[in-house]
Amino acid sequence: MRLIFEKNVEGRRGFKMQSPDVPPAKKLDAKYLRKDPPNIPNISELDVVRHYTNLSRLNYSVDTNFYPLGSCTMKYNPKFTETLANLDGFTAVHPLLPQLSGGGALAQGALEVLYNTKKILCEITGMAGFTSQPLAGAHGELTGVMLIAAYHKHNGSRRKYIIVPDSSHGTNPASAAIAGYQVIVIPTDKDGYMDMAEFKNSLSDEVAAVMLTCPDTLGIFNPRIKEIADLAHGVGALMYYDGANLNAILGKCRPGDLGFDVIHINLHKTFATPHGGGGPGSGPVGVCEKLTDFLPIPRIVKRPDGTLALDYHRFKSIGYIAPFYGNFGVILKAYAYILLLGKKGLIEASENAVLGANYCRTKLRGYYDIPFDRICMHECVLSASKQIKNGVHALDIAKYLIDKGYHPPTIYFPLIVKESIMIEPTETESKETLDRFIDTMIEIARLAESDPDVIKNAPITRPVKRLDETKAAREPDLRWKNSIKSK
Ligand SMILES: *Cc1c(COP(=O)(O)O)cnc(C)c1O
Repeated sequence: MRLIFEKNVEGRRGFKMQSPDVPPAKKLDAKYLRKDPPNIPNISELDVVRHYTNLSRLNYSVDTNFYPLGSCTMKYNPKFTETLANLDGFTAVHPLLPQLSGGGALAQGALEVLYNTKKILCEITGMAGFTSQPLAGAHGELTGVMLIAAYHKHNGSRRKYIIVPDSSHGTNPASAAIAGYQVIVIPTDKDGYMDMAEFKNSLSDEVAAVMLTCPDTLGIFNPRIKEIADLAHGVGALMYYDGANLNAILGKCRPGDLGFDVIHINLHKTFATPHGGGGPGSGPVGVCEKLTDFLPIPRIVKRPDGTLALDYHRFKSIGYIAPFYGNFGVILKAYAYILLLGKKGLIEASENAVLGANYCRTKLRGYYDIPFDRICMHECVLSASKQIKNGVHALDIAKYLIDKGYHPPTIYFPLIVKESIMIEPTETESKETLDRFIDTMIEIARLAESDPDVIKNAPITRPVKRLDETKAAREPDLRWKNSIKSK
């Protein structure tokens, strides 16, 4: 595709004014006039429209096709929640509006959304309190680890370590390290669970917390969580639940009941906000009773007269984590989505997410190696290890899927599976869509045997063909060098 500047034709105009039928005004003083003409392309209106329309059609999104990107929960989000979040009553509310003005309250509606969402999240997760401030999942993790640090500090307990299994999401050790802890990584045993012997060896009264991604990045829910929690609590450590992918367990179990003390949720993955490409997120953090005092300010509280207010006077609080109340629009969409689905709908969402992943896993068994081939949760992890003997790697399979019109699944993650291909169908995809995708994956497995070069040369149908990945990373050429000389 050519850049719009390359479509420049001297003298071409999108819009031409008629000659004036009144005398022209006095010329502007020369000192106000620019020396060079603006460097914008000369192009007709129709060409502008076509240029941007065609560009937008190169964009891949959930609205165009299946997006099985593991761990990212790229599901369809109903347009209804977008419409709600666009209502003037919400978009026109300024965060500094007086909460209570005379008898009438100007921000009570927005506060009610925050308050009700908090209450619902407490109910879904079994936690005692929530903050909606964190702006993404990783930000929620950092907040959660800071809460853990504040708790231990308050109790006069000096602790240095956070335990993280190697099947955790990469943001877990990163958040622990940014919050000042040293990370102890526990390997995965041959069954795909955190190695219990190693775990027990690593536990001591210097451990501040155990951070578990649940389900982990293998898509597996560890059945020994209660035992792990008891052991951790036994040495005074806290239990952290990475609930970014809460869509795997909605209405099935509650982290609070399993013994977790801190949890973050990705509203943008579980509860209806289009995300990706750095789009807005929200990573609310929930805590058990003994940690509520440390939650960020402001806390949202109900006054005796039933009105809502923001409480900034919490001396044990870790303070601000983000301006105001977080990404309000995302919280609002999550609230609307939860009310839309209701209790039964949320349970069904989880059931469908898990069903879809297991459907893909069992249908692709036999064509791909499945390192931990057992009932998984919302995502399944395959490996291209069978295909390597023909020189076909996970990367090649991902590229070939692009030619077939799919967004590639997550590849080479989790790191503990060689040549991993992580597929997350999400609850919103139909059986027909999954069947088409599965057929394509089977076709790829066959091609890897019969004609591997076809896969290795993909993609051939896209404007950008196979890149030199190393060069693209080391010497990125992202700038268009302006070749139009101003006349
Ligand atoms: C996506 C994800 C995160 C990080 O969330 P962001 O909003 O991208 O910061 C953390 N943990 C898990 C398990 C995830 O899937």
